[in-house]
Amino acid sequence: MIIEDIKKSALSIDGEIFFDQSLKNLNWFNIGGKTKIFFKPNSLKALISYLKLYASRGKIFILGNGSNVLFDDNTYQGTVVKLGKSFSNITLLDKEIVVAGTAASQKKVSEFAKDNNISGLEFMSCIPGSIGGGIRMNSGCFKKEFKDILISIQLVDFKGVVRSIPANKINFNYRSIVLPKDLIFLSATFKGTEKKSMEINTYMHELNKKKKLSQPTKIKTGGSTFKNPINQTEKKVWELIKSSIPEDISFGDASISKKHANFFVNKKNAKSKDMKSLIRFVKKKVEEKTGIKLELEIVVVE
Ligand SMILES: Cc1cc2nc3c(=O)[nH]c(=O)nc-3n(C[C@H](O)[C@H](O)[C@H](O)COP(=O)(O)OP(=O)(O)OC[C@H]3O[C@@H](n4cnc5c(N)ncnc54)[C@H](O)[C@@H]3O)c2cc1C
Repeated sequence: MIIEDIKKSALSIDGEIFFDQSLKNLNWFNIGGKTKIFFKPNSLKALISYLKLYASRGKIFILGNGSNVLFDDNTYQGTVVKLGKSFSNITLLDKEIVVAGTAASQKKVSEFAKDNNISGLEFMSCIPGSIGGGIRMNSGCFKKEFKDILISIQLVDFKGVVRSIPANKINFNYRSIVLPKDLIFLSATFKGTEKKSMEINTYMHELNKKKKLSQPTKIKTGGSTFKNPINQTEKKVWELIKSSIPEDISFGDASISKKHANFFVNKKNAKSKDMKSLIRFVKKKVEEKTGIKLELEIVVVE
């Protein structure tokens, strides 16, 4: 019914709408079945129209760069929304203030800040996600995270109402933000500090070098699978995993990176069910060995 209605209105909506769209190539794991509806709005007006018409009639998942999600093998019974190019503008608001659309990649935003002599956003150059994903996950590395530089977020709720929330009114946790799920982040304002572009460049190179040394590259992964259990142990989650499971464990084509035990890998054609079996296995073994209940960092979409 909803699909019939969407098909009828599709031509009048400024954006791309696909039905039974595969999600496999839209995430870093390269895993997943299809989504019943896939919507890529070209404008805020189009996004609001779609939300007003259909958000109350089915579930919605908002996808960024797909670097932290695990889709299911079965078809997603709702709409996956991915913001289009018009949501990726990056502008300089003031000497130290950058405004970025949430579809912009974190790497591009950090480069933009560097080019404008703004320091503080260097860590983003190591994270393969979009600004939207970075906000939702409070992403970070090398002791910096989104909460440290975020001033405000502009967003639209599923009723189509646009508003702005100052960051000091938001609670951030380690790799999460305390905000309802029915929000689509549109843009964000960041504040850095003035520094010479050359110095920022050197620092960014250092961070990227460090990252390459400690984490695998060129693999199909969702990055860190579990959060570091920061309040329970000094140990990193990769250490807990490494000491709790046999090496070379795999379920189908789902396995664990030799370089970083918290990075789970799709070796070739892993199914979502294989990856979930591996996740369950690791969680159980770590709890048996250490008593620590691991919490997922990757977002499992069902
Ligand atoms: C190789 C590799 C290295 C990584 N390294 C790091 C690292 O160093 N530090 C780190 O923190 N993470 C890291 N990650 C994880 C991931 O890159 C980050 O969490 C990233 O910020 C997710 O952004 P994304 O656009 O890919 O989000 P997605 O994976 O697409 O989505 C993640 C979550 O954000 C939500 N979301 C996305 N866009 C929006 C929006 N516009 N509005 C509302 N919600 C939205 C989604 O609904 C979902 O809940 C790594 C991942 C990989 C594959």
